[in-house]
Amino acid sequence: MKTILKTDITVKDICEGFVYNELEGKGLFGLFGKLTIQPEYQRNYIYAEGDGKREMAVIESILKGYPIGLIYFNKISDNSLEVLDGQQRITSVGRFITDKFAIKDENGMPQIFSNMAKDKKDKILETKLLIYECEGTESQIKEWFKTINIAGVPLVPQELLNAIYSGPFVTLGKEEFSNSQNANIQKWSVYIKGSANRQAFFERALDWVSNGNIDDYMSRHRNDKNINELKKYFNSVIDWISSVFTDVESEMCGLEWGRLYEQYHKKSYDPKKVSAEVRKLYSDPYIKNRKGIFEFILGGSVDTKLLEVRIFDEAIKKAIYATQTAKAKKKSESNCSHCAIGHDANKEKIWSLSEMDADHVSAWSKGGTTSAKNCQMLCKTHNRAKGNR
Ligand SMILES: [Zn+2]
Repeated sequence: MKTILKTDITVKDICEGFVYNELEGKGLFGLFGKLTIQPEYQRNYIYAEGDGKREMAVIESILKGYPIGLIYFNKISDNSLEVLDGQQRITSVGRFITDKFAIKDENGMPQIFSNMAKDKKDKILETKLLIYECEGTESQIKEWFKTINIAGVPLVPQELLNAIYSGPFVTLGKEEFSNSQNANIQKWSVYIKGSANRQAFFERALDWVSNGNIDDYMSRHRNDKNINELKKYFNSVIDWISSVFTDVESEMCGLEWGRLYEQYHKKSYDPKKVSAEVRKLYSDPYIKNRKGIFEFILGGSVDTKLLEVRIFDEAIKKAIYATQTAKAKKKSESNCSHCAIGHDANKEKIWSLSEMDADHVSAWSKGGTTSAKNCQMLCKTHNRAKGNR
């Protein structure tokens, strides 16, 4: 998704062509007709509800020079925008400018826009808004909108779900997982990223027990009077990780432990051996992705792709190619050693550099280094066939 910050659009611009539909309770258009204020998925205008204090507060903020916060537009095309977040504030401004409601003046008297002093009118009209114009697919926009909206208070997805499925289950879940005083948080934080009050642990617990279907799980358990299953599953995962991996490494934080638990918890591991292997891999300078070490070990230390072992650099490849090719030409055989011992048409083929790949003579997984003396060039087919980097 692409976003551009606009700082030059004024209240006056936004209110050009403002239309408010009393019947539907919706602010419809603005910004010279380019802006749709109330897209389908937005809720209705609610700031006028009750005593209308909220819509008055928007105008009072502007008059005092207070920021009214970020506004987000979704750019549909060059001539068409819609409000993603900020429609309540924009509608408040538009309704005020068109005399749909009054604010109280210094003496507590109601005052509509058209009766205000010119300097106050200008102050409102010339106020510049902070607007992010976003461009993206509908699903990107909606997904992201889900996380920022609800009366302008930014929500993380789990907070939104807590609001949607509020009830005894959520209350109990938050008591356990969203309480920053819970003594277990320090332990959980080794494996889970985020903070209790932003619902990181509650979200992870739900994600693990539901196999990624949090929405569904919350809706099914909404009225439960206990969270036993949730707690039991969560603690099983945490206990499993800490009993297999006795070391604490920063790269453990935020891994997909729920998936790893499902995949590997039925296998047995010797924590002492695991620890020794973790130490060995941590000290290996050829491993680029330390986050992959844990899954690598769980899977029996075979899937080296997880570790992103460093590959040979271009200078080494060129040098090895040159010596290998010179030797091969003298002997009238292929510069790929595997082709040279074969019986097909490629027996004497001289491959170009771009047709070959570097290979560890002695595989990395068997202690081979990523240095020139352990490098050979093979044609792409043979390199792929060897496979073991
Ligand atoms: Zn070959």
